[in-house]
Amino acid sequence: MVLQYYLLLRSVLRTKPPLRQCLVRCRHCRIFFLTHPCNAGRKDLGCPFGCRRAHRKQQSTLRSVAYYRDPIGKEKKRALNGKRAKPKSDADRPAVRPAALESGSARWNRLMLEYVRMLVSLIEARSVSRTEIVQMLQRVLRQHSLGRRREIDHALIWLQEHPP
Ligand SMILES: [Zn+2]
Repeated sequence: MVLQYYLLLRSVLRTKPPLRQCLVRCRHCRIFFLTHPCNAGRKDLGCPFGCRRAHRKQQSTLRSVAYYRDPIGKEKKRALNGKRAKPKSDADRPAVRPAALESGSARWNRLMLEYVRMLVSLIEARSVSRTEIVQMLQRVLRQHSLGRRREIDHALIWLQEHPP
């Protein structure tokens, strides 16, 4: 999959040499990807294939750990826990559903969708809407056989569970 991605990336860069300046490397998994021209040359970016989201989550966890560690935060946490103690059945918690299993446009990973939208806009040198991207992706997926589609879905689910 990564090899296919790199072959595609190379052919895109061959046909659109100005996009070379947008080529950056993920600071976490070192994969190459294209970024928006305003981020060109940066070395502190996370790729949109999982690292960005995983590390954003990690940062917010670190922030809340630091927050609850200080005495005022602790007091607030205690108050929160007191409030939370009343309705404790599992039914109250929202069910967590993998994004890839949802139907319609909600099925698409938002970050990925935005990335594809930016890429297509850059490559085609015009502004492309998210709806247009969803329609395009649906068209592409329809062309694949069911078996191939399952393979992609499995790969996407796997990628979401194990960010590179
Ligand atoms: Zn990465």
